[in-house]
Amino acid sequence: MSKLETVVNEIVAEMRDMPQRGEVASYIPELARVDPKAFGLVVIDAEGKVAAAGDADTPFSIQSISKVFTLTLALGKFGDRLWQRVGREPSGSRFNSIVQLEYEKGIPRNPFINAGAIAVTDAILGGHQPREALGEILRFMQYVAADDTIYIDDKVAASEQRTGFGNIALANYMKSFGVIEGPVDYTLGVYFHHCAIAMSCRQLAMAARYLAHFGNDPTTVLPVVTPERARRINALMLTCGHYDGSGEFAYRVGLPGKSGVGGGIMAIVPGKASIAVWSPGLDASGNSQLGQLALERLSKRMEWSIFGA
Ligand code: GLN
Repeated sequence: MSKLETVVNEIVAEMRDMPQRGEVASYIPELARVDPKAFGLVVIDAEGKVAAAGDADTPFSIQSISKVFTLTLALGKFGDRLWQRVGREPSGSRFNSIVQLEYEKGIPRNPFINAGAIAVTDAILGGHQPREALGEILRFMQYVAADDTIYIDDKVAASEQRTGFGNIALANYMKSFGVIEGPVDYTLGVYFHHCAIAMSCRQLAMAARYLAHFGNDPTTVLPVVTPERARRINALMLTCGHYDGSGEFAYRVGLPGKSGVGGGIMAIVPGKASIAVWSPGLDASGNSQLGQLALERLSKRMEWSIFGA
């Protein structure tokens, strides 16, 4: 067994009986049904070797992790013009906060808070039909993960559509500044559905490889994005990927990463590996409690922090 496999197995065993697991998200009713004891961890190294343990193949709701992929798509379409609609600064606020929009003319602080991701989704939609835009996002996920079985969990999307009044408010408020261009219900429909994409840790670690390998799919060596774009997306994940917990994540884990309220975290070790971890219980900032602890231990034992061992 390689060192990486040993470490991955050790960490999953350590997490099994951890008493402090955080709270499963319940504001999206469908997410509250998930087993709080579920735990999965998958790491894929530069040679494509997979170290997997726990619930590595159970699909879960990727939620905000999808924002990394919509950002990638939107940058592909608009390049740097995208930054006219959304900023690149950490918010220091909760993921669903509305306050900063008032002071910044409806321009969200970054593409990973809800307001920013809704603005990015609106850009991708760009006058097309929602089904078309959603199909494009799903196909991109399937392409980067090299897996056509990835799907949208319609129950989760419908559950959020029924209860997502905060996001509806954010979209309408941005619309009042002209930051959202299309019909608000189209944009939100696509947003709720891409958040409801279901993936396993194995599929997510596969999908993240282009960010770990300078924009290339390491198996086909086909470029997904330029090395510069991959580097910049990683920088945004490091500074904004965990909302008001981003500083803490950088301090403890030291890797670019993106969390979702489904309890998943995708993390990148530049040039070395892509990682996905899943534990549904969340901390006060909405980030997976044990997911962060597992990544802290993994990065320490493998000496992977980008800030040094
Ligand atoms: N769909 C969720 C929401 O909009 C995504 C939030 C998250 O994962 N942090 O509230």
